[in-house]
Formats: sequence, C-alpha cells, structure tokens
Amino acid sequence: MANQDHNPFAMAQRQLDEAAKILKLEPHVHEFLRWPMREFHVRIPVRMDDGSVKIFEGFRVQYNDARGPTKGGIRFHPQETLDTVRALAAWMTWKTAVMDLPLGGGKGGVVCNPKEMSERELEALSRGYIRALGHYIGPDIDVPAPDVYTNPQIMAWMMDEYVKMKGEYEPGVITGKPLPLGGSAGRLDATARGGVYAVREAAKVLGLDLKGATCAIQGYGNAGQFAHKLAAEILGMKVVAVSDSKGGIYNPEGLPYGEVLEFKRENGTVVGFPGAQAISNAELLELDVVVLFPAALENQITEENADRIKAKIVAELANGPTTPEADVILHQRGVYVIPDFLCNAGGVTVSYFEQVQNAYNFYWPDKEVYQRLDEKMTAAFHAVHEAARSYNVHNRLGAYVVAVSRVVEAMKLRGWV
Ligand code: NAD
Repeated sequence: MANQDHNPFAMAQRQLDEAAKILKLEPHVHEFLRWPMREFHVRIPVRMDDGSVKIFEGFRVQYNDARGPTKGGIRFHPQETLDTVRALAAWMTWKTAVMDLPLGGGKGGVVCNPKEMSERELEALSRGYIRALGHYIGPDIDVPAPDVYTNPQIMAWMMDEYVKMKGEYEPGVITGKPLPLGGSAGRLDATARGGVYAVREAAKVLGLDLKGATCAIQGYGNAGQFAHKLAAEILGMKVVAVSDSKGGIYNPEGLPYGEVLEFKRENGTVVGFPGAQAISNAELLELDVVVLFPAALENQITEENADRIKAKIVAELANGPTTPEADVILHQRGVYVIPDFLCNAGGVTVSYFEQVQNAYNFYWPDKEVYQRLDEKMTAAFHAVHEAARSYNVHNRLGAYVVAVSRVVEAMKLRGWV
C-alpha cells in the first residue's frame, strides 16, 4: 500500500468518488459503497509433492450483494494482494449492475505460483480453498468463476469439493465449468462476442458502416483471438493488425483468422506471419483504423499516446487499458470508448446464464445463448450511451453512473441506507 497511485483499490475508490459527485450521493451511501461488505482471509495448508506442508494465503471479498449473490473469479497469482481482490470485487459489482444481472460483485485470490506447482498440488490447493470458504459461498450467496491462472479443470475440482461438503449436487456454486459438468455453450468466446455486439451498437449511434472497415487488435489470447474471428464473421470487418507480447503484424489487405491462429499455435507468436509487415505494439495502437480492440494489458493508452490514437471506436476487451488522464483526452478528441466493464461483460453474462441453466438442470443451444447475450449487451450499451450523453461525461463515467445508481436503488429498496 506504499504508493496509493498504483494501488488498484485506491483507483477503484477514486472512480466511485467521481460518480458519487455526479449522482450527488448522500455521504453515508457513498461511504458504504467505498468498502466491501464482507472479506475473508484464510490460510490453506497443502501437502506438497516433496512431503512438506506449505501454507498458502487466500482471500474472498464479497463487495456488495444488494442486487443478488456476489459473483466473480478466483485468481491464482504470486503477487495477489487483498487490495487487488477488493478492487476487482468492486469492479464486478459495477459490471453486473451495468449489465442488469441479478447479481452483486465479488472476487477471490490465492497467493501462489501455479507455474511452479504440479497438477496434484494445484488440485489440493483448489480443494483446500473451498474447504476454507465453502460455508460462505453457494448459488444463492457467492458464485466464483475462473480468472487469471485458474481454468475449467480447477472449477471442476472446486465444485466437487463443495458438493462433498454439502452432500448434494449443486453445480451452480461455480461457473466456467467444463461442459460435461454443467458448463454453458458459448462461454469460450463470450467476452469477445459481447464486445463485438457493443461495437455494432456503437457504430449505429455514430453512423458508421463497419462492413469492410478496418480493425486492429492488441493481444492474441482468449479475448483477442475471438475478437479477430467474430469482428470478421459478425460485422464483416477487415482485421489489418494483431499482436501479442512478442510484437505485432500488419497487412492493409487484411489478416485471415484461421491462418493467423494456426501460425500462432505452431510458433507461439503471431510475429513472422507470412505476407505481413512487423509492427510494434505501440505502433499498432496508433494505426489509422476504425476500431481498436485493446485485448491484452492495463495502462496501454495513456496521456503520452492518447493524442495519437486514430481509431474512431476503442473497444476495451482488456481490463483497465486506458488511464484516467487518457480517458479525458480521448473524450475531448471525439474517440468513442466502450469502457472495459461494459465491453468485456459478455463473460460474466454467460456465466450468469450458466447458473440459470444449472438451476433448471436444462441446457440451451449456443444460438439461444448468443441471442440472450446480444439482448443484454445491446440494452446495457444504450443505457450507458444515454447516461453519458445526458450527464455530458465520457462513457466510463456514464457506465459508473448507470451501475452505481442501480446498486443504490437496490440498497434503498431493501432499507439498508
Ligand atoms: P490471455 O492470457 O488469454 O491473453 C493475453 C494476450 O495478451 C496474449 O496473447 C499475450 O501474448 C498478450 N500480451 C501480453 N503482454 C503483452 C504486451 N506487452 N503487448 C501486447 N500483448 C501482450 O488473456 P485473455 O483472457 O485474452 O485476457 C486479455 C484481457 O482481457 C485481460 O485484461 C483480461 O482481464 C481481459 N478479460 C478477459 C476475459 C475473458 O473471458 N478471457 C473477460 C474479461 C476481461
């Protein structure tokens, strides 16, 4: 907590403070929303492969459950801190509210380095996390999901441990499960799909024709790869540049999805893809394209380069790619930003669908998932667009205004504040 500027929770609180000013929140309501409602801090003993017992530190933060059970991923990361988990839990609260899901926001984390652990050790840690917290989560309480360095297999172990504790099958305790254990169709590409639907709506309000329009994507992981596929497939866009941590590639004639993906699988990077020009990640961000998808890391568009961003729409699939200073510059320059907790909310939305299907023990085909996701994204997009226009603020603040006012309304109706 030495440097408050880089403390994510201090940043989450500052963002809330700005929305509180616009909404003229009463001081006690504002104060309540600045802090998590509940936090768990646990120690998890795990027998390691060499016979020793290692004690891991774990967290679960249930930030606000006024609108329903808290929801949010579990991260396994060596640099995990309580403040990171608090910040992410706050952002989940705003994300579920902006999407109008009947859920609150939460997040969990374990301080560990999964890259140095065997599969057996990871399973023991995953089960230990649930043994420590299983009494405080559940489909109607708090529903975890995968996040950084956790995956469907880890969700399966966690669900199994919870089911053993409860003595009954209750797969809705956790989402992001493998399909045979109650996972949802359409979960894999949900984040990118939601972002692509939001871009389609942005183009409508801006009067842009996206057919054949150019697009650049920073990051070629889950979010970036599917953005490439779906921007072309759904919107008919021409993806001219993509990148990963090694660098980027550019071809003004367009980059074919299937071939780039295969090249990345074989070579571990998109760099060197035949027929494309090499560009840096910094150059990719400044390309003269219609849509830019940051889909990698935080703090990519800053006050240093915001003046040179030429895209008309910046669709933030990554969390936190634009700094607060850059937000102001982009807004002044008329660049239309679709803020992260709206643009990348497709993942949590399909997670919510997974919970619903688990509760009914009846599963939807992928087309039904896509259609319901489209309805949710479209409604959320227009709520944010209207709020930003009527308060005359940038879209991120517009999204905060929508989300915070929904949470406050629920708290008031419940008689909390
Ligand atoms: P991922 O690990 O699958 O992929 C990350 C990609 O970013 C990789 O291609 C990596 O090479 C690239 N990268 C790393 N460092 C880079 C750098 N310096 N410059 C350019 N590229 C770099 O991760 P993901 O799941 O695709 O997530 C990407 C972003 O989207 C993150 O901010 C994540 O929080 C956000 N997000 C993802 C989901 C989801 O469902 N996958 C949901 C919400 C938000």
